[in-house]
Amino acid sequence: MSDQNAELTERQAAAQRAAELRRLIHEHNHRYFVLGAPTISDAEYDQLFDELDAIEKRYPELITPDSPTQRVGSDLDERLPKVTHPAPMLSLAKAYTADELRAWQARLEKVLDTSAAFTYTVEPKFDGVSVVLTYTDGHLTLAATRGDGYLGDEVTPAVRTIRSVPPRLPSAEAAPPVPRRLVVRGEVVIHKDDFKAFQARMQAEQPEGAAKFVNARNTASGALKQLDPKVAASRPLTFYAFGVVEASEELGERLPRSQYAALQYLRALGFLTSDAVRHFESIEEVIAYVQAFEAHRHDLPFEIDGMVIKVDDLALYNALGIVGKNPRGAIAYKFPPEEVITRLVKVTFNVGRTGMIVPSAELAPVFVSGATIRQATLNNFEDIARKDVRLGDWVRLKRAGEVIPFVIGALPERRDGTEQLILPPERCPFCDAPVVRAEGEIAYYCSNPECPERRARQLEYFVGRGQMDIEGLAERGVRQLIEAGLVRDEADIFALKAEQLEPLEGYGALKVKKLLASIEAAKQRPLDRLIAALGIPGVGLTVARLLLKHFPSLEALQNATFEQLDAVPGIGEALAKTVVAWFAEPRNRALLEKLRAHGVQMAPLESATPRSNALSGLTFVLTGTLPTLTRDQAAALIEAHGGKVASSVSKKTSYVVAGEAAGSKLEKAQALGIPVLDEDGLQALIAERLALRQD
Ligand SMILES: [Zn+2]
Repeated sequence: MSDQNAELTERQAAAQRAAELRRLIHEHNHRYFVLGAPTISDAEYDQLFDELDAIEKRYPELITPDSPTQRVGSDLDERLPKVTHPAPMLSLAKAYTADELRAWQARLEKVLDTSAAFTYTVEPKFDGVSVVLTYTDGHLTLAATRGDGYLGDEVTPAVRTIRSVPPRLPSAEAAPPVPRRLVVRGEVVIHKDDFKAFQARMQAEQPEGAAKFVNARNTASGALKQLDPKVAASRPLTFYAFGVVEASEELGERLPRSQYAALQYLRALGFLTSDAVRHFESIEEVIAYVQAFEAHRHDLPFEIDGMVIKVDDLALYNALGIVGKNPRGAIAYKFPPEEVITRLVKVTFNVGRTGMIVPSAELAPVFVSGATIRQATLNNFEDIARKDVRLGDWVRLKRAGEVIPFVIGALPERRDGTEQLILPPERCPFCDAPVVRAEGEIAYYCSNPECPERRARQLEYFVGRGQMDIEGLAERGVRQLIEAGLVRDEADIFALKAEQLEPLEGYGALKVKKLLASIEAAKQRPLDRLIAALGIPGVGLTVARLLLKHFPSLEALQNATFEQLDAVPGIGEALAKTVVAWFAEPRNRALLEKLRAHGVQMAPLESATPRSNALSGLTFVLTGTLPTLTRDQAAALIEAHGGKVASSVSKKTSYVVAGEAAGSKLEKAQALGIPVLDEDGLQALIAERLALRQD
């Protein structure tokens, strides 16, 4: 056989294997993301993925657009193209009351000129971004936003990164029939839990930019419209299908003929559909369902703003046609806005760790969407002036989902003349230092760097998750130590002794022991976390890592000049100035010395990198007391070998490491069939996998 032939055969084998791997990965994605019942471990999944990636790197011509490796897509360099929708993506007429639903039903009967029964499907009305997906020969070929209903933005690369969007529809014998062309409409949302986690991650990674992610829908929409699909890939987007827009006709009668059947069909094809979908015979049943649903609207994993009711029979639905710009056969029942009116009785000023003064409204208690509200944010003084909200005003208050309630505006017609303008305080309410406004900013600041409130807030931040992560000092913990005179700065925390803590209220022997252990562990945090924890304005974890890339040790960073910092791509002039100024401040230099003297590790990042990848791809949960290792030491050991440590047991957990007095986590692991190791078992696993890697 010639060399050329040998190569060809090898390539053919690779092509075959790549196709097989893609099929497997798609199948496991479906099991994991849609069915929620994976049949392989994350590590095994990663192996399949890595193998495919390796083949595609070797033979780039084998890469297909629907390959799972392409889900973090390549860079685009042009603006979003426009797509004409196959049928107009209409918006729905709205109903706010039961009578409006009955009136809609009466109009339908009149138009149809029949008393023949028709039935309804009821679905949640997603508060997300509507998109239209086109599948050609079973492959996702086009994705577009709703746009103006006729023209949409093409967002195919971003949509390909969404794991709940099947890149390919099943073609097996047992699968439902797939037409040559299928157009599906649905909604891209961010689940509430995912959004919270995403906000926390943004807060930790880039606190300066995190504030813009206040609304899940806007965050989803922003992600879809980025030219770089990596942005979409980094946001926790989920797609729910809610309708078949168009299907080529060759399948005829085998295609679903009702909306309810269409949703089941979409689900069978691998799409997510809402579990709250119902089918009803009469409008009164529909009304009972939507009204009862309102009380549970917050129980769904995603935000909704109402329910959609459609005539179930698709032929009838289409025959009903369009009235104005709405389809006649569907209507949106909107839940009443969660808005109430109450009195603004007091304004308090909070001072953050940077000194920023944040006004907060104290309200006459009011009940809205299941909770009593006493406080609301007023954002900033510019916002207060723009809305003309005054102390003593009756205000409109909104609680959107689980977001902190905020004041929408005042009711000036209810004023009696006793209301007062809300102005920034001239002096800090905590330290009486003058309040200043930074050039070009809308915020006001306490001008005193030693302000006790600022210091307390900084210390709270320092010990917080994502920074030094000292369990036991969160919330009020660190304040108690400040008030007891035990802690004045960050370094004092590392000098705490058991005999100082024991007399404090709420400190038993066990709590003291635990706290000292977690302080000890915090001394070993990697340098990027330490730098982010220092509270240098504008320096979160992302910036800290960027800085360390160019100035790998604390000494190098401390001695970096403005010119050197300014030259780093991604570090602007203002940030360079701030960093230089922070390190030039004698009290900050003294703090770093003191931290070092108290044993806080400041070694360059390299030493924190894993010693091996033996546990790479595995996720561990620790529970109970191990014979020789503390919880933190065990976690460090796992992480040093490339494993992950999670706090709760889930289907993603590879192993639970259990010691004495293990509790509910162990039970859950057993219930889920997750293997349980003791400390020796963990060591054996590492040794075994190290040996494997060396072969
Ligand atoms: Zn102050």
